[in-house]
Amino acid sequence: MGRRKIYHARLMYARPFIDSLDFARNGREISDEVQFAEMPRLLDILENPQGSFSYTMQGGKDNQGTSFLDIRVNGQCSLRCQRCLNKMSYPLRLDTRLFLRDQASLDALGDDDEEFDSILADKQLNVLDLLEEEILLSLPIAPKHELGACQVTVGENAHGQEKKPFAALAKMKRN
Ligand SMILES: [Zn+2]
Repeated sequence: MGRRKIYHARLMYARPFIDSLDFARNGREISDEVQFAEMPRLLDILENPQGSFSYTMQGGKDNQGTSFLDIRVNGQCSLRCQRCLNKMSYPLRLDTRLFLRDQASLDALGDDDEEFDSILADKQLNVLDLLEEEILLSLPIAPKHELGACQVTVGENAHGQEKKPFAALAKMKRN
C-alpha cells in the first residue's frame, strides 16, 4: 500500500517524452535525476524504494546515418541477496547505445546482427519507461553477496533465536 501511494503521487509530475528520431537527428541531450519510487516495475525487484539515479540521454547519428540514443545511468540501488535474503547494495552503471529503426528494418534484423540493440523509433518515446527497461535488463537475475560477505550462515540465525526461550525455561525449572 505504501509503495503504491508513493508511485501515484510521483505520477503527478511530468514524465518526459521525446520524438526519438527528431531528438537523434538534432543531437539533443537530456539529463535528470529519477527517484526509484517512480519506477513501478523496478520496485518489484528492489529491496526498498529509497534512492535515485541520474541519467543522460544523448541523440546522434553514426557513420551509416543510423539514428541512435546513447544512454548513461549512474546510481546505487538495494537488491535482496538470494542466499541470505538481506539487503545488498548494488551499483547501477549503464552505458549503452540503442539504434532507432522503423518496424520494417526491425523485422529484417537478425537476432545477433549487431553490436548494439535496436528499438522502434517512436514519436512519443517515454524516456522513463525506456530507462526502466534498460535497467531491468542489466540487473542480475539472482543477486548474491560476495562469498564471505553474506550476513548469515545457513540456518544459524533461526536456530540461535529458537534456543533462547528453552534456555530460559531450563533455568526456571532448576530453581
Ligand atoms: Zn547474502
